[in-house]
This record gives sequence, C-alpha cells and structure tokens, in this order.
Amino acid sequence: MTGISRRVFGKTLAGGAVGGILTTAFAPAISASDKNIQKKKLGIALVGLGSYSTYQLAPALQETAHCYLAGVVTGTPSKEAQWQKKYGIDPTHIYSYDTFDRISEDDAIDIVYIVLPNSMHAEFSIRAARAGKHVICEKPMAMTVGECDAIIGACKAAGVALGVGYRLHSEPYTQEVQRMVRENSIGDIHFVSSDAAYISGGNPDQWRLDKALSGGGALMNMGVYSIQSCIYGCGKNPVSVSAQEFSTRPEYFKQTDETITAQFEFPGGTVAHMMTSHNANANRLYASGSRGWFELNPANNYGPLNGQSSEGPLSFPHESQQKLQMDDFAKHILFGSPNLAPGEMGRRDMVIVEAIYRSIREGGRRIALDLPQDYGFAVRS
Ligand code: NAD
Repeated sequence: MTGISRRVFGKTLAGGAVGGILTTAFAPAISASDKNIQKKKLGIALVGLGSYSTYQLAPALQETAHCYLAGVVTGTPSKEAQWQKKYGIDPTHIYSYDTFDRISEDDAIDIVYIVLPNSMHAEFSIRAARAGKHVICEKPMAMTVGECDAIIGACKAAGVALGVGYRLHSEPYTQEVQRMVRENSIGDIHFVSSDAAYISGGNPDQWRLDKALSGGGALMNMGVYSIQSCIYGCGKNPVSVSAQEFSTRPEYFKQTDETITAQFEFPGGTVAHMMTSHNANANRLYASGSRGWFELNPANNYGPLNGQSSEGPLSFPHESQQKLQMDDFAKHILFGSPNLAPGEMGRRDMVIVEAIYRSIREGGRRIALDLPQDYGFAVRS
C-alpha cells in the first residue's frame, strides 16, 4: 500500500531533495502526519456542505488522483443521508459540528477542508489542527490578521500543513502569467489592473451580507482575488495602499461594502489599481510591462479562463481548478512538493484587507504596508 516509506519521507524532507519548496507551513508536518505517508491517497473531510462543497469540491474529489472524499462535517442532519448515499461515505466518517472533535480518532481523514462562512474559519481550522489533521481553509482565511495568526500557530503547534483555498495557484493560465512575470517576458511591469466582481441579488438574509458572519462585503469575498492578481501581476508585495468605497444600493448592502477600489504602490515604482464589487460584473487581470502586456479575461472564475498577450494568445486545456488545487495540497503532504497557497499567504492578504478598510475609514489615506519582500508564489511541480 505504501509508496513512500516513513524513513525515506522524513529524510527527503530533511534534505529538501524532492525539489519542492519547504515552506514554514509544511516543515512541522513531519511529526503529526506519520499515518499519511503510509497512504497513496489522502482522505479529505469537507466541513460545511453549502454550495461550494456541493457543486465544486465534492465533484472535483471524484476526479482527484492523490486525495478523495472520505468524510463530511455538517450542521444539517438531512444532508448526512444524502451525502452518504451520493458518495458512499461510511456513516462512521460523518460528523456534526458538535461531534467534530472526534475526528481526531478517525484514521480515514487526513485533511480537513473548512468551507464554512468566514466567521467560522478560525474556530474550525484550529479545531482541525488540534485533532491532528492537515487543514485547508477557504478564502478569505479569517476575519482578521489576529485570527490568521491563531490558525497558523495552531497548525505549527500540531505539526500539520495549512493551505488556503486559493484554487488559481494550481490553474495553468495563472501559473503562466506568474511565469511571464518571474522571467521578465514582458519586461519590467509598470502597471497592473485587476477586477473581481459580480452582481449580488436574491436573499437579503444571506451570510455574505451579514458582517458578523462575513467580516465584510465584496472585499472579503471577491476582493481577495483582486489583491492576489495585483501581486502576481507585478511579482512583488505592495508597499502601500489607498482605497475608496462606493455605495449605490444601501438598502440591500446594509452592513457590508458594495464596491471598493484601491491603488497599490510596489517597490521599484509599479502601480496597480483594483476594483471589487458585489454590484458589477467584472473578472480581469491586465499587466503592462516595458516590452509588452498580458491580459486574463476571465481571470478568476472557475474557468476555462482566457488569455492574450503581446507575445500571442495564451491557451491551455481546461481542468477542474479544485481538482488540481486539492491534488497539489495532497502532493505537498505526500511528496513534499510546494504548498502553493500556505497560511502565510492568506495572512498577507488579510493584512492588505485590513489596510484597505483602514484607508477607507481614514478618507482614502495612503497606508504603508510592511510586508516581506518574498511575495510567496511557488511553481507547481
Ligand atoms: P454557502 O452559504 O453555500 O454554504 C455555507 C455552509 O455553511 C452551509 O452548508 C451552511 O449550512 C453552513 N453554515 C454553518 N453555520 C452557518 C451560519 N451561521 N450561517 C450560514 N451558513 C452556515 O457558502 P459557500 O459559497 O459554500 O461558501 C463557504 C466558504 O467557501 C466561504 O468562506 C467562501 O468564501 C468560500 N468559497 C470559496 C470559493 C472559491 O472559489 N475558493 C467559492 C465559493 C465559496
């Protein structure tokens, strides 16, 4: 059953010989994941069976090569029988939020994937880590930078790996524009523009409009894609941000932001502009360099994405982004390949989110950002 012996795995990590980047989020996983390395495929438990789990993650887990749907955690008893029947999940691997901590005894579950409203990410990520499970936490990683720190700390203390649900890092168009930036294909990047937005409608009681559950509106939802696009479109972390908020439907967006624009300054003088909204349709990344340009449009939906550049069209076959993402995380645990979206990346984005909200509160004031030089994007292996 085992393809990698425990001894070899530990040695490989120590020597860094796999060719992957050993992130801080990964290093401690050696001690707590001994069981994982006896397996070829890791068991994932989805926590929260809403639309993303139902329509994206569970179907993707039917296609994954290195992980599979082993269990679920739900607060809705009627979903237990539905998921048991649809995916053949043994009832011993089905938990409620109250019985969740017993998952520590469940050897079939290696990775716990938190797919709950944002306000519940920290609690369940920390509980999963304390249960000795590797964690994937959906975006945005948490409500505050402090919560991100608590999640990272809990995963480190438990010796488990931590990933954020940034599916685009496993996606070929996104990897390609990251390569173009890294290899200076269009020269020095002077300007980046990114938009991530959709028109929200329907149920005014949905959790995304409730600040206590979401932590914010468009910025906490699609805004993290705009922030990410600016960073990988430029290939650096920003040094400052100034932001503005616009509201045209205050009767619907009672507690949460509707539209936010922000401008970043980067080391070396690159500037970037981002827009995120719950009241516009937009999905684009454009970067202009000293020798050319590239554009993804759409840039951040479930795909297929579409790309053009001054060097010609970009074209890649479409695969489920979620399948690629979960397999990449499982490969990180199994083989030491890079953790493409570690907790530190989710935390960095929350630092920026907090700075954007602060700039808005302070009338658009320029807020300095003290971020590491390494912007943290890794190459898929
Ligand atoms: P959803 O509303 O469809 O599902 C939320 C789930 O949480 C439901 O099963 C609901 O029963 C459960 N829940 C538990 N307590 C709740 C409470 N107090 N209020 C409301 N629901 C509660 O949401 P979703 O679209 O599946 O989003 C879940 C998470 O996944 C969010 O953090 C979201 O940002 C993220 N997400 C990520 C992507 C992506 O592309 N990476 C896409 C969609 C959603």
